[in-house]
Amino acid sequence: MQIQKAIDNLDRLITDVEDARLQLSEHHIVKIIGISKYSQSEDVATLYKAGQRAFGENKVQDLKQKMSDLEELPLEWHFVGRLQKNKINNLIDLKPTLMQSLDSLELANELNKKLEAKNKKMNCLLQINSAKEDSKAGVMPEVAIETYKKIIQSCPNIKLKGVMSIGAHVNDEQLIKQSFEITKTIFDELQEYGAKYCSMGMSNDFKLAIKCGSNMIRVGSSLFK
Ligand SMILES: *Cc1c(COP(=O)(O)O)cnc(C)c1O
Repeated sequence: MQIQKAIDNLDRLITDVEDARLQLSEHHIVKIIGISKYSQSEDVATLYKAGQRAFGENKVQDLKQKMSDLEELPLEWHFVGRLQKNKINNLIDLKPTLMQSLDSLELANELNKKLEAKNKKMNCLLQINSAKEDSKAGVMPEVAIETYKKIIQSCPNIKLKGVMSIGAHVNDEQLIKQSFEITKTIFDELQEYGAKYCSMGMSNDFKLAIKCGSNMIRVGSSLFK
């Protein structure tokens, strides 16, 4: 990617985010995570030069590679993919800023056990399958609050910082909006338990997500195109 292209992509994204967040409130701040899973380390470096600092990957191996390629840059790294049990220790060793895809109580218990053994902590978001799609990971909205509280109680090495969700995979904007609203309602109930981030919105639906209250968006294709 050329630097001018990175600047243009980021500029357009920031303009769109500004427009959406101001429709909600001038006090509403949105954090942008650049999802680099389809791109190379050089492209991440180019976007860094354009001003982007936070990036995310969905595979532990790719996260490890890019972190190592770019270790001299002051980047923030997020993990947003399905975490296989045999990769938990690898992820812990990478010390991601935020693990956004904690998708079950079972995974939380497993992760907590391994964090304890290494005397480490990890910031995580509970992933919610708000659209109830079989193809998606995450806890069902009906049990999200209960699961969040259970993780706080039984997993002291996991620092829960909020929730993450992927919008419904449909063309009907009303249904996508509904899935975001479900996540936002859960997030609001969890703020008294320390939830800070409501991570929702990707390239195709971040404007809608922000209008529904998202304060963290995960943008890949439209930033790296
Ligand atoms: C790939 C991915 C994204 C980014 O998707 P785009 O449509 O490319 O913006 C966001 N969140 C998760 C969990 C992803 O896997």
